[in-house]
Amino acid sequence: EAPLLEVKGLKTGFNIDGELYHAVDGVSFKVNPRQIVGIVGESGCGKSVMSMSVMKLLPVGIGKITDGEVIFQGKNIEGLSDSEMNKIRGKDISMIFQEPMTALNPVFTIGFQLQEVLLNHQRISKQKAREISIDLLRQVGISRPDSIVDEYPHQLSGGMRQRVMIAMAIACQPKLLIADEPTTALDVTVQAQILDLLKGIQEKNDMSVILITHDLGVVAEMCDEVIVMYAGQIVERTDVDTLFYNPKHPYTKLLMESIPKLNEEVETLGSIDGIVPSLKNMPRVGCRFADRCPSAMPECRQITPVLAEVEDGHDVSCLLYKSSQPVEGVR
Ligand code: SF4
Ligand code: MG
Repeated sequence: EAPLLEVKGLKTGFNIDGELYHAVDGVSFKVNPRQIVGIVGESGCGKSVMSMSVMKLLPVGIGKITDGEVIFQGKNIEGLSDSEMNKIRGKDISMIFQEPMTALNPVFTIGFQLQEVLLNHQRISKQKAREISIDLLRQVGISRPDSIVDEYPHQLSGGMRQRVMIAMAIACQPKLLIADEPTTALDVTVQAQILDLLKGIQEKNDMSVILITHDLGVVAEMCDEVIVMYAGQIVERTDVDTLFYNPKHPYTKLLMESIPKLNEEVETLGSIDGIVPSLKNMPRVGCRFADRCPSAMPECRQITPVLAEVEDGHDVSCLLYKSSQPVEGVR
């Protein structure tokens, strides 16, 4: 079966004070139909920029894809016009964010906003759109959907608003849902309910999901495949069981040790010392994790590791593994 989404050698640059810096720097991965792929890493590792690149939602004049390809259902999105991309967004690929308040419009009712999505992509009457909206609210576990449909976002709790966001995102039965920290702003109980809901919808609608998170607990519960990102690059990629039982990259190992405890509000990953190098201070050669790596060797600052398969279906980018050592003259 062909992958639904294929990202190949993606580089996304941001213009900062007239210079171009790469927030995503050579990232390749695939998402298969019905697969849930987790993308994990600290803030600033490029995971959100990557989803903005896939959605072609980079801030105009500031961010742009400078290299690589994003292929969705066999089509390179690069060649698509704004109006073609608008057709895909919301219909074939949709997105949910951490803070629904920023995505929901405070001056319109829930029902109006749901109907907008439906009427944008489908030829149906307003009456029909309203019926579908109520049904969608029911599907995302909102009780009294026929009264909620006429309420405004501020009348709902955070968890309810996130359910509404999910209803909007699945309104047109997308093939791919990108969920960027969808439960981070919610308390633990609500978080678990929302994840259950997402999983249920994913199965029912045969949807693929890219789940962006800094929370490995969420990954363990939800994902089939996991991509660990650091400083704009993939440092490890494998299936979820292998990642948890046999992590290989020193960064992944540290992430495992710092899995946030219940109720701990973390956006940086707990106990790992140091921070991700800023875009302006990215080392040109060597491993980008070297400053924080407990296993760093002198050569880690001179040789740039390559993401390569260490074992079947398990890719790692770290000089501790022979496969990651660049071949002389090739790179
Ligand atoms: Fe650590 Fe070196 Fe591996 Fe980088 S290449 S993760 S610094 S051991
Ligand atoms: Mg982010």
